[in-house]
Amino acid sequence: MIPIAKPIIGDAERKAVLNVLNSGMLVQGPKVKELEESFARYCGAKHAVAVSNGTTALHTALCAVGVKPGDDVITSPFTFVATANAILMAGARVVFADVDEETFTIDPVHVERKITDKTKALLPVDLYGLPADYAELKALIMHHNHAIKIIADACQAVGAQYDGELVGSIADVSAFSLYATKNIMCGEGGIVTTNNDAYAEHMRKFRHHGQNTQYSYEFLGYNYRMTDLHAAIAIEQLKNADAWTKKRQHNARLMSELLAGVSGITLPVVPAHSTHVFHQYTIRVRSGRDKLAAYLTEHGVGCKVFYPTPLHLEAHLRAGYNNGDFPVAERLCSEVLSIPIHPLVTEDDVRFIAKAVKEGMKRNL
Ligand SMILES: *Cc1c(COP(=O)(O)O)cnc(C)c1O
Repeated sequence: MIPIAKPIIGDAERKAVLNVLNSGMLVQGPKVKELEESFARYCGAKHAVAVSNGTTALHTALCAVGVKPGDDVITSPFTFVATANAILMAGARVVFADVDEETFTIDPVHVERKITDKTKALLPVDLYGLPADYAELKALIMHHNHAIKIIADACQAVGAQYDGELVGSIADVSAFSLYATKNIMCGEGGIVTTNNDAYAEHMRKFRHHGQNTQYSYEFLGYNYRMTDLHAAIAIEQLKNADAWTKKRQHNARLMSELLAGVSGITLPVVPAHSTHVFHQYTIRVRSGRDKLAAYLTEHGVGCKVFYPTPLHLEAHLRAGYNNGDFPVAERLCSEVLSIPIHPLVTEDDVRFIAKAVKEGMKRNL
């Protein structure tokens, strides 16, 4: 079975963990600091703050820009549940806006309709590794209310670019995940980037109970610290980020060549102003998606639906929303299917996967 995702763990990672164990300095020590410095440099951001996972990274980011109970945050219904949960964790209301059919990212036209005096932040998602439409979102804010902040859910998009700028340096604050299946990983981990000194300071306190100086607390914070064991792994992974991204892009290009013209499916689109880091390579299957998925699984191709349910239909998020409210997101949930292109997938694997997709589609028709 060719898995949909698989962490790459080498001798460098093993040695790095052992060194930390031998050092006796396990939590938020020199390795966390080193990771923060290299990650900030990598993204072209002034600050990076390491935390315990991508969900706590989003919560930390939202609170840093001042999101609080009574505020609205506009986000996509077509994403992992953590995106919306982080808004609830900050005590704010989740306001959904539909996504663009081709890029799968939040549609600025729909966002504009949802902006009110209560809107405190936009939380676009760089889904599957493609940046959201930041130029349009920033233009909206200039037009409406400069007080609205943009938090990027960049959990899937480390290394991606929009208009020549790296994700992590575009939004007011950007949140990344280092979960085991992400493009670079450390098991569980997260990191937040910003160019704003005050936000960075808030985030460093927030992840450590709001502590100002030792045993003196400025506000309610949490234990969202990263361990040096995790940071040591992430440092080694980051060194490979560009090479792994190139391999993902190479596999994606080959897959698109091989699948071009197959009737009944739509291939991923990369707008001219963006680069795509292909956390997932996701096709749309106009009918019989689940049958194709079953065929692929049966024939050794690990494939997966990210995500089967739009978030506005989940019980804890559906307040006021109904089926039919976000037709694009709803349709995508029934059509998308991700197939493996990660760096451990060889060219032969790509050919094997493409052939299986074609065979499966023939049976579908
Ligand atoms: C992975 C992911 C998260 C959450 O990250 P965790 O590290 O699993 O908490 C949030 N949003 C998106 C889009 C993700 O892919």
